[in-house]
Amino acid sequence: MSHVLRRSLTAEQPVIVRGEGAYLIDSDGTRYLDACGGAAVSSLGHDNAAVRAAVTRQMETISYAHTGLFTNEPAEALADYLIAHAPDGTGDGRVMYLGSGSEAMEAALKLARQYHLENGQPERTRLIARAPSYHGNTLGALAVGGHAGRRAPFQPMLIGVDHIDAAYPYRLRHENESETAFALRMANQLEDRIKALGPETVAAFIAEPVVGASLGSQPAPAGYFKRIREICDTYGVLYIADEVMCGMGRTGSLFALEQEGIAADITTMAKGLGAGYMPIAAVMASQTVVDAILSGSGRLWNGHTYMSHAVACAGALAVMHEIDDRDLLKQVRTLGKRLESGLRDALGQHPHVGDIRGRGLFWTAEVVEDRASKAPFDAKRNLAGRLQTAAMERGVITYPSQGCADGVQGDHVLIAPCFTSTGAEIDRIVEVVAESITAET
Ligand code: PLP
Repeated sequence: MSHVLRRSLTAEQPVIVRGEGAYLIDSDGTRYLDACGGAAVSSLGHDNAAVRAAVTRQMETISYAHTGLFTNEPAEALADYLIAHAPDGTGDGRVMYLGSGSEAMEAALKLARQYHLENGQPERTRLIARAPSYHGNTLGALAVGGHAGRRAPFQPMLIGVDHIDAAYPYRLRHENESETAFALRMANQLEDRIKALGPETVAAFIAEPVVGASLGSQPAPAGYFKRIREICDTYGVLYIADEVMCGMGRTGSLFALEQEGIAADITTMAKGLGAGYMPIAAVMASQTVVDAILSGSGRLWNGHTYMSHAVACAGALAVMHEIDDRDLLKQVRTLGKRLESGLRDALGQHPHVGDIRGRGLFWTAEVVEDRASKAPFDAKRNLAGRLQTAAMERGVITYPSQGCADGVQGDHVLIAPCFTSTGAEIDRIVEVVAESITAET
């Protein structure tokens, strides 16, 4: 019997012992083509020599020194890199490091609160986020998230957060509504909610530039985030962009928000930052936020023991250099087109695939019982889990997500292959995803 308190206390799990490019290999020698990098984490595959060397080198000099007294070279270099590559409008910002996406979200919420206190606006405490969305599993991040299933057991312990609709065209766009009109209608929900709550009480709006887990991989309609930026600026509300899943190159640009032509006030990142080699997350504060602190207390009102861990930062910096040195953002865009057209060819007319959506190497098929009515399969069927098992039996790992919006969504198959995948691997992923959807529906 295992003494690890695993996600399932009863299921048998293979023991993973080795990685080889896009493949995971277990103790029986079974090879799995990793089509989702866990959950959009392993963007460089599983055996990157440059990252391994950078981590080893750093461990040979210094691993840890408390951030109350010291900084370190990899933390400084990584922050310089992220600020230099941040979306235009971030300005001369700064970066704080944490261990996970949830921690980064908690830190971002606290930073928004600090910003308003430093600016003499203590009444700005309210948060507005979207549903569906997912922002993490700690209590603050869970409260901000609009994921009904994950929130349910902890509901009485969650702080109050207001939610507006996530822009989800497959189910929310009206017939004959243009993309622009849909984008404006969705974004204007934020203005209506800010006005209803009282603009002077609202601290921040939180949204993923491309919605992950809860909707698979849902880009925003064109113009949506430009309007969000305008609304936030008009009412003095900070925009927190959660790039934990969609950031670090996954959608074809380092930050997904770059493609929307705006910058956030605060940005969180994790998963692809350490690419699975290091558990590291970050919060990037724009110059606006940094300036408020500099002209106020001059101190960050947050701290964790493992902030700015030198080995974690060295690993993440090596990941960023790999993306640059091997021109991997271009590779994401090229392979992404192959993945998209493969999925559309194989599943575009499938009787149980309602929608195919995504960007870069971040794609999702939403599976429904009835294409005409968009009705999902009965949740009791656990189709998302069965689709994952069916793909795994065929040697491919995908990420499952059962509709999280109280029975009004289908089941999702999320695909997020590594940026270093070959064309043949992308084709094999498409083939297996199509076969498993056909087998299980
Ligand atoms: N934000 C988003 C968009 C995520 O997808 C996730 C995890 O899936 C998180 C935050 C939480 O990150 P972590 O699981 O590293 O705590």
